[in-house]
Amino acid sequence: VQDSYDVVVVGSGGAGLAAAISAHDAGASVAVFEKMPVAGGNTNGASAGMNASETIFQEDEGIEDSKEKFFEETLEGGKGTNDQELLRYLTDNAADAIEWLDSLGITLNNLTTTGGMSVPRAHRPEDGSPVGEYLVDGLIENLSERDIPLFLNSEVNGLMQEDGVVTGIEVTVGQTNQMFIQAKSTIITTGGFGASPDMLQEFEPDAADSVTTNHEGATGDGIKMAQEVGADVVDMEHVQVHPTVDQTDGFLITEAVRGEGAILVNQKGERFFNELDTRDAVSEAIQSLDEGYSYLIVDQTLRERVPAIDFYESQGLVQKGETLAKLAEEIDVDAETLEATVTAWNEHVQAGEDPDFGRETGMEHQLSEAPYYAIKIAPGVHHTMGGLRINTETAVLDEAGEAIPGLYAAGEVTGGIHGQNRIGGNAVADIIVFGRHAGEEAAK
Ligand code: ADP
Repeated sequence: VQDSYDVVVVGSGGAGLAAAISAHDAGASVAVFEKMPVAGGNTNGASAGMNASETIFQEDEGIEDSKEKFFEETLEGGKGTNDQELLRYLTDNAADAIEWLDSLGITLNNLTTTGGMSVPRAHRPEDGSPVGEYLVDGLIENLSERDIPLFLNSEVNGLMQEDGVVTGIEVTVGQTNQMFIQAKSTIITTGGFGASPDMLQEFEPDAADSVTTNHEGATGDGIKMAQEVGADVVDMEHVQVHPTVDQTDGFLITEAVRGEGAILVNQKGERFFNELDTRDAVSEAIQSLDEGYSYLIVDQTLRERVPAIDFYESQGLVQKGETLAKLAEEIDVDAETLEATVTAWNEHVQAGEDPDFGRETGMEHQLSEAPYYAIKIAPGVHHTMGGLRINTETAVLDEAGEAIPGLYAAGEVTGGIHGQNRIGGNAVADIIVFGRHAGEEAAK
């Protein structure tokens, strides 16, 4: 470890790794400090893809999209509360970021759709596998090629500040060696606070008792250390709750299970809501059941369309019945009711209309091939949309709206871009577009 660098990056998720690469390529000396024993943070768990419009890969597929549509649909998803300047920067620069990743050997050329977009805009690895680990592995390879040091087990405890200027960090390197490291620029990319019960309690008490899909390092450290040097925060109360989360270990059950045709039933064995309404609405419907949880019901063909279910089974999350009646027994639901629910659902699928709850998507396939499966789920904390206030140059702002010299931030640690509800696939766009930009700005 040197005692000074041009640029110090705090946290090694997608935002931090992208920032380190772009700062290095702009000519700066860079080091990354990561408190956990592994790199990648919540980015490792990103599954949907990276949203971008007017990309080379959309063009290859003949998909017509526009930056304006991407902007408008994201603003609608955020209920009109997004910071529009940041959002405009995101939607204008995502396509270029897709090409930048491609130039780094990270190719996201397989397109899919998530809730809230009118055309396929979520870019995934060629084989359709989850984007997160592929992205983190590819970025780390680029760090190695450039000899950019990445220090694991190295928690940053605070920022140094002289005459209002942030001049570096205080860090415990390798869990033992306390150091003060000088930097012309410090970039905070520590992610959100979805694994901090205290911060959830403070900002969104309703979410505090929920399980979380987050890795244990998502404790809002960067928000606190920036606040100590005068940073402002926005949207802290906007915490995204995902409706289908295993309640024992917080495994997220992908939205694709419903997208490919699963229904949700309550403990009586009845459907109770449009399963593919927005994340906040479905979560609320599950929470207002007396039992507070629900079962995803899956048949054999659906299971084959969603390979991730094999993984859920290996984690002990999937119950199985050779018939629907046997499955009902497994989950202690009345067999006749469950059979009647599935029969009615299959009729709706055939008719292409759901008179019970008005569902319109994920209705291509009936649930009719044995064996049948159930996955017990309830809502869980997934993403914290609030955080540090930044400008489009990724400078961290104080309460007067002035940039704090020497301090930059990008990724889930920042707030404003997603407004009140984040669209699946926009977190990855955020970390790459703004992480990359933070590196450029910090290297100036
Ligand atoms: P993003 O998606 O914004 O890149 P991630 O959650 O993927 O955010 O990554 C944030 C990373 O920052 C995680 O690996 C986390 O362990 C790390 N981190 C959080 N707090 C600290 C800290 N105090 N010091 C060093 N690293 C930190």
